[in-house]
Amino acid sequence: MNLAEESICKRLPRRYAPRNDGVLFCPGLIKRMELIDTHCHLDLPAFEADRGAVLQRSRANGVNGIVVPGVEASGWDRLWDFCAGDANLYPALGLHPVYLEQHADADLKALESRLTEHRPVAVGEIGLDYYLKDLDQERQQALLEAQLEMARAADLPVILHVRKAHERMLSTLKRIRVRGGIAHAFNGSLQQAAQYAELGFKLGFGGMLTYARSSKLRALAKAVPIESIVLETDAPDMTVAQHRGQRNSPEYLPFCLAALAEVRGVDPQAVACQTTVNAREVLGL
Ligand SMILES: [Zn+2]
Repeated sequence: MNLAEESICKRLPRRYAPRNDGVLFCPGLIKRMELIDTHCHLDLPAFEADRGAVLQRSRANGVNGIVVPGVEASGWDRLWDFCAGDANLYPALGLHPVYLEQHADADLKALESRLTEHRPVAVGEIGLDYYLKDLDQERQQALLEAQLEMARAADLPVILHVRKAHERMLSTLKRIRVRGGIAHAFNGSLQQAAQYAELGFKLGFGGMLTYARSSKLRALAKAVPIESIVLETDAPDMTVAQHRGQRNSPEYLPFCLAALAEVRGVDPQAVACQTTVNAREVLGL
């Protein structure tokens, strides 16, 4: 075991510590490695034709758990039914800020009752998108706050979509305290990363790390404490460099793992173990 790996292992809970022979041991590993894709839209039509095969290939690659966030009310039933058939698929329910025009007041009421009736793993995908200029920022804020209040009442973590809006998001999270969650596809500053960590949030890193041109993001992924990081694909979007131009898929998560391990200069297995511990901890899986 190299030194970098050892330093990660020391911070792991006791049951994840290396065995005497130096092999990192995580309970329930497939081929001694277990990964969780913390953000994958596997319910979307892009996977309609071959969802079963995608899942099979993902498992063969060690991707043992997949979190499937909701984006709009009309998709919740399909998402829920699909996840119900598989113990390793974890549904989240929420109203995505980018689809602001599709959401009605009744959808918020429906979400509130589903959170108590069905108990998803998280409220999401919710958030603020200031990158898309034609989305009304105050309406996004109202939608976000209503869903944060629901997450707090239900004591559920949240899955956040945040683009060009980290300062407003952080001040909102300081006002409406939820039990933490994940800031997906994180691309903020180190200072903002520390503030999210303080509020109980992990930061999602994925396919963009596989591109050499993502130098700012790669530097960020190197500097953020490993305890704060979870892996994600955001499939079918944000395809890894190795499959550029194709549909993204949870089966490609090991490429994200390899890129993260490479920028940090540590053993992929140690990174796999710690990021899986992080995901299980923050989502209560
Ligand atoms: Zn998403």
